[in-house]
Amino acid sequence: MVKKYGTGMMAVMLMMVLVLAGCGAGNGNNAAGNAASPSPSQEANATATETPSEAGNDGKEQVVNVYTARHYDIDSQLYDAFTQETGIKVNEIKGTAEELVERLKREGESSEADLFVTVDGGVLNYAKQNGVLQPIESAAVDSQVPAELRDTDNNWVGIATRARVIVYAKDRVKPEQLSTYEDLASEQWKGKVLVRSSSSLYNQSLLASFIELNGEQAAEAWTKGIVANFARDPEGGDRDQAKAIVAGAGDVAIMNTYYVGQMLHSKEAEEVKVAEQIGVFFPNQDTTGAHLNISGVGLVKHSKNKENAIKLIEYLTSAPAQTKLTQGSYEFPVNAEAEKPELLQEWGPFKAQTLDFAKLGEHNKQAVELMNKAGWK
Ligand code: FE
Repeated sequence: MVKKYGTGMMAVMLMMVLVLAGCGAGNGNNAAGNAASPSPSQEANATATETPSEAGNDGKEQVVNVYTARHYDIDSQLYDAFTQETGIKVNEIKGTAEELVERLKREGESSEADLFVTVDGGVLNYAKQNGVLQPIESAAVDSQVPAELRDTDNNWVGIATRARVIVYAKDRVKPEQLSTYEDLASEQWKGKVLVRSSSSLYNQSLLASFIELNGEQAAEAWTKGIVANFARDPEGGDRDQAKAIVAGAGDVAIMNTYYVGQMLHSKEAEEVKVAEQIGVFFPNQDTTGAHLNISGVGLVKHSKNKENAIKLIEYLTSAPAQTKLTQGSYEFPVNAEAEKPELLQEWGPFKAQTLDFAKLGEHNKQAVELMNKAGWK
């Protein structure tokens, strides 16, 4: 299983750094800062109230140690809220998904990690295949997260989903002109398509989904077609594609939905202005559906705080926490009871791809090869 990834997976994980750098624009540093160093007053409070005698019966502080490759402010806020509700402290240990999986393998039984959190279904499955996870047994989780957003063996469960869709210049493109990802490779979009580099795991998983749904030949033809329609050599993250549309470099871009929400509610006026000038289009509604990817949490095989870890998973997937998450990140909740932000409600329900998220990882190497072959930089 590991071999399937080989150098491809190495490449994938290098991309994770880029992906996360993309995610982090404007909030990544804060997230790291918040997690790494609680304010002195918080520290003081914690020390003052959590004396050993007041902790659990065994006198130990109640904790959950989370190895996370997700660098979002909202995650840290949710962990803090969990601590306030339960008294269980959450320690975030950050890294790229590859680093963290390698670390879990290396540490084995001596690992202090209880949970593994990351974006991308392929990566979650990579952790499972590497034997660092175990089944999550919780009726609450099973009822809060639909089966299609959980691993088949419950080694991981989804905490949020995101769609990778088409955004367009509202002043130059009518939504009626748009239909499918496949159509972006047609003559009408020559020199008008914007998308980030092939080193982005987001693009690799998008193409992996096409390999799974349409076959390798069709995926290869699409890759060549889209590259031929590029408005420019790929540069920047997803937000930069939106900015390039507004700057007139191209008319349409492939982008993750949550960036549009984050930009519309950004502290930077420029980002808000850009987001207001682009429309969101969910492609392939009459065919295979819009590309969906997932963020999830896995229970580490040698977790020493399993009960607390499961409590945290139950909390993260509960309706109140899911409401906070979607309102903070503009990802889609996995719990149908969560209250979505107005923007997501406006977008309405959409048809999403239905495929085993594990396939995104299984086809990763092939996807990278196709992109290299087509000259997608
Ligand atoms: Fe992102």
